[in-house]
Amino acid sequence: MAQYDLIVIGAGPGGYVCAIRAAQLGMKVAVVEKRKTLGGTCLNVGCIPSKALLYASEMFEEAGHGLGALGVVVGAPKLDLGAMMKHKDETVASNVAGVAFLFKKNKIDWVVGEGRIAAPGAVVVKGADGKETALEAKAVVIATGSDVARLPGVEIDEKVVVSSTGALALAKPPKKLIVVGAGVIGLELGSVWRRLGAEVTVVEFLDRILPGMDGEVGKQFQRMLERQGFKFHLAHKVTRVEKAAAGAKATIEPVAGGAQIALDADVVLVAIGRRPYTEGLGLEALGVAMERGQVVIDAHFSTNVPGVFAIGDVVRGPMLAHKAEDEGVALAEILAGQAGHVNYEVIPGVVYASPEIASVGKTEEELKAAGIAYAVGKFPFTANGRARAMRHTDGFVKVLADAASDRVLGVHIVGFGAGEMIHEAAVLMEFGGSAEDLARTCHAHPTMSEAVKEAALAVAKRAIHV
Ligand SMILES: Cc1cc2nc3c(=O)[nH]c(=O)nc-3n(C[C@H](O)[C@H](O)[C@H](O)COP(=O)(O)OP(=O)(O)OC[C@H]3O[C@@H](n4cnc5c(N)ncnc54)[C@H](O)[C@@H]3O)c2cc1C
Repeated sequence: MAQYDLIVIGAGPGGYVCAIRAAQLGMKVAVVEKRKTLGGTCLNVGCIPSKALLYASEMFEEAGHGLGALGVVVGAPKLDLGAMMKHKDETVASNVAGVAFLFKKNKIDWVVGEGRIAAPGAVVVKGADGKETALEAKAVVIATGSDVARLPGVEIDEKVVVSSTGALALAKPPKKLIVVGAGVIGLELGSVWRRLGAEVTVVEFLDRILPGMDGEVGKQFQRMLERQGFKFHLAHKVTRVEKAAAGAKATIEPVAGGAQIALDADVVLVAIGRRPYTEGLGLEALGVAMERGQVVIDAHFSTNVPGVFAIGDVVRGPMLAHKAEDEGVALAEILAGQAGHVNYEVIPGVVYASPEIASVGKTEEELKAAGIAYAVGKFPFTANGRARAMRHTDGFVKVLADAASDRVLGVHIVGFGAGEMIHEAAVLMEFGGSAEDLARTCHAHPTMSEAVKEAALAVAKRAIHV
């Protein structure tokens, strides 16, 4: 029987990164993955294909509506959806092949099949042919990720009623798209198809979009999306989705009660969230403690069963690829006797719509709820020279700093390139930096990032350009 130091079940960003780091630290590692390719949800049907379509559709929109104002005159752009999907598929293929290369380089065994933990240290892998292979290891990591959360009574056929996976592969742009759920995935994929011609209506149970993000950011972003043509039914719930002769019909009603509204669509995207995925792992028989579908772990990623660990979407915390990756690294280092650690206070979150939204640390709502006195510094991109030069003046930077110590507690950016700019705030916060530290750091001119510096200056009411 094959013996390993570590067996990882699931080759998403949590699992594959954990495996690579463990191999770097000298462990003999196997990764069990039931999908035919490595990279998990993120590389196959998540982060990477969605960003390929977001970028391509943004270019389509830019060509149609943005270039003329810059003096670049082109004819009305034509959509070649086949070529756009090919770009997406090639992006996925090169990324998943990259992980396979890294496995070879690090001498990691890739075992194809569905893994089950038969006992601590014992994993049984069932191949597509039904044949079972037994593996043994000192440590086993559950990195099985998450799956689409379903609406009760609504069947997803991935053609008319789709999850994010189907929405990444529609055969043509829908004329009308209903997005159920105003979270990150719904707004990103809604943006893709809106840019490619769909009329997009978003139905959200809560009375705001992007729950969990800073309230002011959510409000302003909703107005921006409305200007782009998005329609919103907030505080509404979907009570029924029926397939019609062409497309589907959704019935919605106010959460507080009231008249029902019937909405027609060619495609309905169910994007109400994701749930931890542990099916077939044998966790119940093994006695692994679970809570609300998540595997319960301690501060060192250990479950209650010795030798069995868990990371990524399957455990508590934000369902984000980089959070899973950092947990993978930390766990591998802990298993090697080092001091692996994840700082959950500094995990950036990005919405890759137009403009982008990025945030790190606390929101104003969280600071208020915790009773922490804070100062706010804000700076709009309308006052930033580079933003004007690129006609990307939508949005602002908001810095939240502790009122007494000036330590930065949260940074929220709405604007072109926000997903890149947020990282200077993340590094600052990792080092416990203050708004003054950020404000005194020389920023190149002219850059969008100068707005981050100005927002930091604004905390002490000394911004220069507003
Ligand atoms: C449309 C979409 C867009 C997203 N965009 C972003 C983004 O831009 N940024 C971001 O940070 N996050 C994004 N996410 C979330 C991100 O994909 C997840 O947070 C991330 O993939 C979690 O990584 P993981 O390793 O925990 O699990 P996963 O990536 O879900 O990987 C788990 C793997 O385990 C395998 N598996 C499960 N059970 C077994 C078993 N018993 N045996 C063998 N294999 C098994 C699965 O096949 C899967 O490949 C997006 C998600 C979606 C759906």
